[in-house]
Amino acid sequence: MEEAADPCEDCTAGPAIRRLTRVRIWNLSPILRKLVSKTPKQRLAATSTATGPRLAVIFGDQLNDRAPLLAALNPTTDTILMMEVAEESQHVPSHIQRTVLFLSAMRHFAAQLEARGFQIRYIRLDDPSNTHSFTTEVARAVADLRPSELLCTWPGEWRILYEVRSWSKKFDVLVTVMPDEHFLTSVEEFAQWADGRRGLTMEFFYREQRKKTGYLMVGKPARPEGDEWNFDAGNRKSFGRTGPKPPPPQPLRMPPDAVTREVIRAVRNRLPNLPGRLDGDDAFGWSVTREQALAAIDDFIKNRLANFGPYEDAMWTDTPFVYHAVLSPALNLKLLNPRECCEAAIGAYQRKQAPLQSVEAFIRQIIGWREFIRGVYWLEGPDYAQRNGLDQHGKLPEFYWTGETDMACMRSSLGQIFDIAYGHHIQRLMITGNFALISGVHPKTISDWYLGMYADGVDWVTLPNTLGMVMHADRRPGSTKGVTGLVGTKPYAASGKYIERMSNYCKGCRYDPAQRTGPDACPFTVFYWDFLIRNKDRLAANNRMAMMFKNVDAIAPEARVQISIDAALLRKRFGIESQ
Ligand SMILES: Cc1cc2nc3c(=O)[nH]c(=O)nc-3n(C[C@H](O)[C@H](O)[C@H](O)COP(=O)(O)OP(=O)(O)OC[C@H]3O[C@@H](n4cnc5c(N)ncnc54)[C@H](O)[C@@H]3O)c2cc1C
Ligand code: SF4
Repeated sequence: MEEAADPCEDCTAGPAIRRLTRVRIWNLSPILRKLVSKTPKQRLAATSTATGPRLAVIFGDQLNDRAPLLAALNPTTDTILMMEVAEESQHVPSHIQRTVLFLSAMRHFAAQLEARGFQIRYIRLDDPSNTHSFTTEVARAVADLRPSELLCTWPGEWRILYEVRSWSKKFDVLVTVMPDEHFLTSVEEFAQWADGRRGLTMEFFYREQRKKTGYLMVGKPARPEGDEWNFDAGNRKSFGRTGPKPPPPQPLRMPPDAVTREVIRAVRNRLPNLPGRLDGDDAFGWSVTREQALAAIDDFIKNRLANFGPYEDAMWTDTPFVYHAVLSPALNLKLLNPRECCEAAIGAYQRKQAPLQSVEAFIRQIIGWREFIRGVYWLEGPDYAQRNGLDQHGKLPEFYWTGETDMACMRSSLGQIFDIAYGHHIQRLMITGNFALISGVHPKTISDWYLGMYADGVDWVTLPNTLGMVMHADRRPGSTKGVTGLVGTKPYAASGKYIERMSNYCKGCRYDPAQRTGPDACPFTVFYWDFLIRNKDRLAANNRMAMMFKNVDAIAPEARVQISIDAALLRKRFGIESQ
């Protein structure tokens, strides 16, 4: 069997599929072609001529009922394969609620497709013949159905893309990967935007997105609504000393139905050692259908959007959701479309139900950050996951799995993650992430933890957020000294003083956020100064850090030595020393 260098060359798919496939996926720009060719060469067309029945694989994060893949299928001759495989909950330990969410949403989606007339081969977690990996299940389906072609949508992970691309050779069948039209920006468009730029700045990408969509744009020539691209200066409020009054309205929780309860039973039986908690079936409240996800947007728009902007960065004990949308799991499973979320928010602005500062902030997260992060993931290639720009090698402390720590902020944030598989952005960035950054944890280790422990974890979004935004590890090999990050222009390192300002965690803590040495010194504060001392040479050329390093220079040399000693002792106590 010879291998085709150009995946389009032997493509025998139907004209509609070929057009989509060629244009969107395989007609690659030079930059993306170079990137994709890093994967082993594939033979995408084999002896099959795609005239017979086809097998379409739908993965758990591809539950888009308007996907081009579905439009390309013939319900009477083609079969859809959906697989609940243990490997996906075990390659990184996956929170029980994340696992239940994926499987229950898949079962609901499969039932909906069946009602539309599609033939489904659905492999359940507890099916005795389940071999528990995608490739072995595809092998069984290929042996049983002898399809002339395998189809799927562009996956959410390099690991899966590799696996899909191996099928043409393994099964001697044509494999067609179709575009994921859930996103506003294709992988290819992002690569074109990035081509030739020295740095990738989200803000510039975001402005292009605003122009392209026309969201919150007015006049001719179009200018941003309110004459500003963003209103972040007014969006960094804390809850002061007294806390949120009245408390923010709780997001809608979706009671588990019979299907979800069955999934919970299967997960408890087949995967009893997953991390996280699900104390009673009713503790599960995530949207598992599109209808529920639509109700969840409505609830956010009516009850929390108006305060989303101002309190985006605020944290408070026992207030896990604050005014956040809590829509990322439904978005990442593709139960929701990003456009409909933005348009719902703009509608609220037009009806004067939410101020511009909140609506713009929300839209920026969706069409700006979310799309930018995905673009970076595919642009940078599979090697991105191995980057370690700050050369950190520490182990993840055990308390990330148990929550047992005397740091009140960590105890509260981790307990919340175990209970509900959710933490809002600032908790992820400035508590659990900040700790890993400044204490010296290995970036991939903490990234794997994030991938499994949150209901919305999918590699394309977890990895650049963790490696790039939190760990400042994603410097391109060979880039100039001082320019250490791609996603972030500087590390989001912060001491306990920041946490004290933005939350009430420190009030109930045995440590003092103002102290940087001694037995009562806050570990965040010790590690923050130690981080700056350790990384001064590496980061000094970054202008955005000048003030921080000026403050380091003002510390007496003996005090600096003491900080380093205390930080080393803490690292030892927490088990962070090199792996
Ligand atoms: C270390 C770390 C890991 C993260 N891992 C994930 C992850 O696995 N999955 C995930 O969806 N998000 C991840 N994020 C981004 C962000 O924290 C979550 O999207 C957000 O907290 C989800 O909650 P929400 O729906 O209430 O979001 P809101 O704060 O209400 O924001 C609205 C929406 O904007 C999008 N969004 C906001 N910020 C980002 C961002 N930085 N990147 C991508 N989308 C964004 C999400 O879709 C979100 O639903 C991570 C952030 C950090 C710092
Ligand atoms: S004092 Fe330090 S460890 Fe304690 S809650 Fe505040 S920031 Fe966290």
